[in-house]
Amino acid sequence: MLNTDTVLECRSLIKRYGKQNVLNKVDITVNRGDIYLLLGPNGAGKTTLLSIITGILKSDGGSVHFKGSSLKSGIRIGGFIENPAFYNDKTGYDNLKMIGWIHRKRPDIKRIDSLCCSLALDPAVLKKKVSKYSTGMRKKLALVRALLFDPDLLVLDEPANGLDPEGINEIREAVQYANRQEGITILLSSHLLIEARKIATKIGILREGRVVLERLLDENGAKGLRIKTGQGYGVKVKSIVQAMGFNLSLSGGTEVDVFAPEDKWPGILKKISDNNIPLYTAVPLADDIEQIYFKASGL
Ligand code: ATP
Repeated sequence: MLNTDTVLECRSLIKRYGKQNVLNKVDITVNRGDIYLLLGPNGAGKTTLLSIITGILKSDGGSVHFKGSSLKSGIRIGGFIENPAFYNDKTGYDNLKMIGWIHRKRPDIKRIDSLCCSLALDPAVLKKKVSKYSTGMRKKLALVRALLFDPDLLVLDEPANGLDPEGINEIREAVQYANRQEGITILLSSHLLIEARKIATKIGILREGRVVLERLLDENGAKGLRIKTGQGYGVKVKSIVQAMGFNLSLSGGTEVDVFAPEDKWPGILKKISDNNIPLYTAVPLADDIEQIYFKASGL
């Protein structure tokens, strides 16, 4: 599957608190169909970045574009930052009705029931006050609320935080359901490397407010090959690889990460050189997530 439609692009985002540069020229690109995982240790700036993207915070510089526009009105965003907020003395269903008021639409009961089934939340629970919910139930209710009006982009800040292993699994399955069955692009944060291995199709590693690495992860047996070419040739490599039907990401105009089964690499490289494009290097990308993370973090 080609992932070429950009849903979200952050360029040179800056956020300061006093003298502290919490985000320091952050660039990320989320494409349609991605499960993009923002990885980073505590305090790296993940929540701050997601808060700017969702409009909760203002940046001190740089840009956020949705589907090529700076207007957030062109895109429907669902999700939650930190802990999802609810009216605790109201029932789950009442809370969902309230989100309907914001969208000026009555939530469709059938859609609520089917989402509850898909996310393993017993619909009967919706009749109870949210104050009676466990952390896992609150998170699932937040996901039902986020998916109710078909977002283009689901933004989830540490969705598995505070859950037991079973709850973490259920949230992971819910995220996969939203991506695969509902076709929703997802941007989520975590400090758990296991999340990258289990669900992410692309990762961005954030450390001390900088993106130290952004790359696609291998899928369906495809392995990563980083091709370096001359200035101005990156886009040409990109269009050749795209035409061959493989996933890729281009950075800095000269570096293209291609994701294809190893036996396809010679054909890709031949096609590039047949088009008189200079090929400086072609190096396999590490495919072990720990190795990727610690190497990128300089640890
Ligand atoms: P965690 O995984 O612990 O949630 P994070 O990667 O989400 O961390 P942020 O919450 O974005 O990191 O915080 C990044 C930095 O910004 C931290 O050093 C934090 O102390 C600082 N920070 C965040 N919010 C504020 C604020 N309102 N005022 C001052 N500093 C803040």
